[in-house]
Amino acid sequence: MAESFGSLMARIRSCRACTRHLPNGCRPALQAHPDARLLIVSQAPGRKVHATGIPFDDASGDRLRGWLGIDRPAFYDEHRIAIVPMGFCYPGKGRSGDLPPRPECAPLWHPQLLPRLHGVVLTLAIGSHAIRGVLGGRRKESLTETCTAWREYLDIGVLPLPHPSPRNTAWFVHHPWFEADVLPVLRRRARRLLGT
Ligand code: SF4
Repeated sequence: MAESFGSLMARIRSCRACTRHLPNGCRPALQAHPDARLLIVSQAPGRKVHATGIPFDDASGDRLRGWLGIDRPAFYDEHRIAIVPMGFCYPGKGRSGDLPPRPECAPLWHPQLLPRLHGVVLTLAIGSHAIRGVLGGRRKESLTETCTAWREYLDIGVLPLPHPSPRNTAWFVHHPWFEADVLPVLRRRARRLLGT
């Protein structure tokens, strides 16, 4: 008999596969339900999200909710939005900011989880790791080139986005087309998909 979705989520939440590489321990931060219409594939939780266990419960999340034009109750409604990072646990700090998502995580869990999100119509690939994971060989040389070509990916139901982290403020300033062209389309699609 096929495993229930709840049982799969319970196995993910109790995962300890790469615990020896996680200086702060395992605390998978994600949300998912087969009804979700919008899938957010992000990078990995930061320290603040690790503390609360709630994905995007930080300044990046505030900016992302602003991009989508939705409030926290809508954002955290798993029946509408699935949030599935490339790494579910906080990987710890490196020399220049947080370490990348643990490489074990997406290959272990995405093939089990993503095919069960039958309702997904649009996937947001947020940041370079997620863009690589979602688009693979279809991505361009750089994140900026991939994001600039956003229209071609909408045809396959994907919107590549820069990470909404405050660390990327300079990128937003230097690429004003993002706010002018991409965000209105994102907001319109989100409103249609989520019924907000
Ligand atoms: S990062 Fe992923 S694979 Fe590693 S312990 Fe957390 S849930 Fe498991």
